[in-house]
Amino acid sequence: HAKVNGRNQISFYDPSMSRNLVRRREIEAELRLALQRDELSIFFQPIVDLSTGRIRAFEALVRWFHPVKGELRPDEFIPVAEETGAIITLGNWITAQAARAAAQWPDDVTVAVNLSPLQIKAPGAAMGILNALREARLPAHRLELEITETVLLDHSKQTEDFMAELSAAGVRFALDDFGTGYSSLGYLNKYPFGKIKVDRSFVSGVNAGKKSDAIIRAVSGMASTLDMQIVAEGLETIEQVQAVQAAGCTLGQGYYFSRAVPDYLAGMLLARERERLDGPKRAIA
Ligand code: C2E
Ligand code: MG
Ligand code: MG
Ligand code: MG
Repeated sequence: HAKVNGRNQISFYDPSMSRNLVRRREIEAELRLALQRDELSIFFQPIVDLSTGRIRAFEALVRWFHPVKGELRPDEFIPVAEETGAIITLGNWITAQAARAAAQWPDDVTVAVNLSPLQIKAPGAAMGILNALREARLPAHRLELEITETVLLDHSKQTEDFMAELSAAGVRFALDDFGTGYSSLGYLNKYPFGKIKVDRSFVSGVNAGKKSDAIIRAVSGMASTLDMQIVAEGLETIEQVQAVQAAGCTLGQGYYFSRAVPDYLAGMLLARERERLDGPKRAIA
């Protein structure tokens, strides 16, 4: 199946490549319909205070239950949505859903929403988020937006304005997947981040590798100096929980505590926790 292409290089026909391409095209086409067909939903994963076990927030994570393909992971369809621009409509819907769910929770529980670079650069992006909050009647300080470093790389005025406007309104920001990209510490000073989320890849190495441990220690030392909180992602075992806590993380998230669950279950987790912590009288407020 070899053939010579225009640059005199030999390329081979790779059936897996075209299969991937076909799937991508299908996802692209069906993503447009998925919202209308009600195939998408938002799941919520608790973020807990490591010293008390109390749920402080939930991260909103989008799920796509396709009638034929089954469950599609966001890692597969979010990049497609980013490429086609569908992420704008999708992202607006996700923020609105997340805010609506959070409005049902106790007022000390926040909701974290992931934002794609394109969403931040869309015209009227900050206003759109403030509108979603108003419609859901969710106070701005109960929303936290998670963004990754890639958004900040180009040092654009748009990103700066977006963050400044929302931050002035009370919205919070978390730097997501810290440690996977450039991890420039300059961002932490320049932008209004209240939290740093240390990527799962460091957490899984925390007991095994001394290096991961040292990195988490350094980041959390710096975070507390800058008055920021540090969240460990992907905690799966009690050993990892203890190790990141010893390294200075105050908050954690991962399968050890809970997977992402539908909103009615998030509400039940909260009710059960309030019952345990505050006594049965206040359980159903
Ligand atoms: P992320 O923001 O870093 O989200 C954390 C991911 O780690 C989630 O995967 C979560 O289910 C997974 N996770 C949490 N705890 C554990 C654990 O203990 N072990 C393991 N192995 N994994 C754990 P998910 O839901 O598949 O999302 C993947 C990525 O897709 C997210 O990474 C985020 O970048 C993106 N994403 C998800 N939902 C949205 C969304 O609504 N909007 C945008 N723009 N991106 C989203
Ligand atoms: Mg995230
Ligand atoms: Mg992350
Ligand atoms: Mg991630």
